[in-house]
Amino acid sequence: MAVSFKDQVAIVTGAGGGLGRSHALMLAAHGAAVVVNDFGGARDGTGGSTAAADAVVREIKEAGGRAIADGGNVTSEADMQAMVERTLKEFGRVDVLMNNAGILRDRTFAKVTIEDFRAVVDVHLMGTAIASKAVWGVMREQNYGRILVTSSTSGAYGNFGQSNYGAAKMALIGLMNTLHLEGAKYGIHVNAILPTAATRMTGDMMSEEMLQMLAPELVSPAAVWLVSREAPSRTALLAGAGTVARLAVVESEGICFAGKSLTPDDVAANFDRIADISSPIESAEGLRHVDRIIENARKALGQA
Ligand code: NAD
Repeated sequence: MAVSFKDQVAIVTGAGGGLGRSHALMLAAHGAAVVVNDFGGARDGTGGSTAAADAVVREIKEAGGRAIADGGNVTSEADMQAMVERTLKEFGRVDVLMNNAGILRDRTFAKVTIEDFRAVVDVHLMGTAIASKAVWGVMREQNYGRILVTSSTSGAYGNFGQSNYGAAKMALIGLMNTLHLEGAKYGIHVNAILPTAATRMTGDMMSEEMLQMLAPELVSPAAVWLVSREAPSRTALLAGAGTVARLAVVESEGICFAGKSLTPDDVAANFDRIADISSPIESAEGLRHVDRIIENARKALGQA
């Protein structure tokens, strides 16, 4: 069945340029009415105007789609509440929220100020929480919702000079995991995209050859599928340069020391086996890990 957003309404934050613009255009091309949110600031989050969002709305309308612009700041509860109210007034419902807005304040940890650390966490983590909370009640009530968080390999794997950004981006995987559990019985699916694309955020970090391969339009198909009616939940996809892959958090089988000696020296002596990830285990939720280690201990203690 072809992916379609017919009769659905989507909000995309930070959609005045880069990846958000590409997601918004693709959602509109697949039938969604789109709220193009963008605070319109500089890459570091300063300034602000709705000109960028207005331009994307014009593009969508010229292609025959439906869209409105919203200049709200994702870090403001009042702005996000007002954005959702305007969406309901204009289009009657909210089916999809793509959390995409973001800023950068790159510095090594030695040089980053706490103010810059907080500003990045505020937009990526708090902005996603605030926008998601603004739609959460509506989605619960209508027993349907699709929420996307935008994470990053800078969080999953690290990136020199991005302690603030990486911390905020990996926190979004944590947010996804729990929103997935709490949203499940209300038909709310929550997923993550980890993009790699040439945008104003990354343009100066890449060679000309890389810039050409990394069109934002090669990320949007995965992002758009993750907010579709057919979307899975609690799924994190990496997308860029034509590759789509899944990111998973896994643990090694490990060793159960229950009933035996367990000192720091025992950990050191067994570290290779403890760290051996050749039989990865992926837990559906935190409690499944607790079940596993209790089961291990019961077996080791002869109580199973
Ligand atoms: P971009 O700078 O082109 O787009 C970000 C947009 O967010 C801008 O239009 C900006 O005005 C808007 N924005 C910033 N702060 C806002 C706020 N407080 N409220 C509302 N809007 C705000 O960058 P992009 O590369 O398109 O990034 C989009 C998302 O993808 C970001 O979350 C970014 O961290 C993430 N990401 C991008 C890459 C990449 O390779 N480009 C990699 C990993 C993650």
